[in-house]
Amino acid sequence: MRIAVFQVEGLTVRGEVVGEEAVGLGRRWPLSQVKLLAPVRPTKIVCLGRNYAAHARELGNDLPERPLLFFKPPSAVIGPGEAIVLPPSPRVDYEGELAVVIGRRCRNVRPDQASQVILGYTCLNDVTDREAQGWEGNWVRAKGFDTSCPIGPWIVTPDELSFPLTVETYVNGELRQRGSTDELLFPIPEVIAEISSVMTLEEGDVIATGTPAGVGPLHPGDTVEVRISGIGSLKNPVKGG
Ligand code: ZN
Repeated sequence: MRIAVFQVEGLTVRGEVVGEEAVGLGRRWPLSQVKLLAPVRPTKIVCLGRNYAAHARELGNDLPERPLLFFKPPSAVIGPGEAIVLPPSPRVDYEGELAVVIGRRCRNVRPDQASQVILGYTCLNDVTDREAQGWEGNWVRAKGFDTSCPIGPWIVTPDELSFPLTVETYVNGELRQRGSTDELLFPIPEVIAEISSVMTLEEGDVIATGTPAGVGPLHPGDTVEVRISGIGSLKNPVKGG
């Protein structure tokens, strides 16, 4: 199932995408006639840093011994097609990532129970002010600015996916990142166990699983696309601030 939130005829509909149609409220519309929104409104977005070895190396970082965690605020979320507005910074990067969407409130989940709390998976772009990340201790400005968290285009339920998934990022149609989820340093069940040992995860919360190698800058006028096998494509235009 592809779970989606979309706008059509002045309504906001929580429904699904079936083939080339958006379905909800007992009705169907051609997908091309609806505007997809972010498929989830999380209370928090918990992100992993340096969860692909090749990406840690490209930024000159050691590999973490435990999952390196940080937050993006819910106010950073935008949907497919919405503009990423660059903050005033010499370098703002795309980071294409697989996102896990939590399906129910949970705490202290064991790795072998993790599949029970996963609603599904989607694409996420962890847009990062790389310059601020260099001087700012806990990345609030680097990772938290408005529009820095595109999510979408929809949530695909686990029964429709076969892992490993390929995570790719394109800028203006050109491939910049390609990784496989079998390269994750900390696999998803361990990550859910670690986070939920610290805090309650709510229904709709999002875990961004880290970015593969190949990060690079965005510029006004670019279009950036995160594409994940079996899920789909999340495309956003980029604007100056
Ligand atoms: Zn990231």
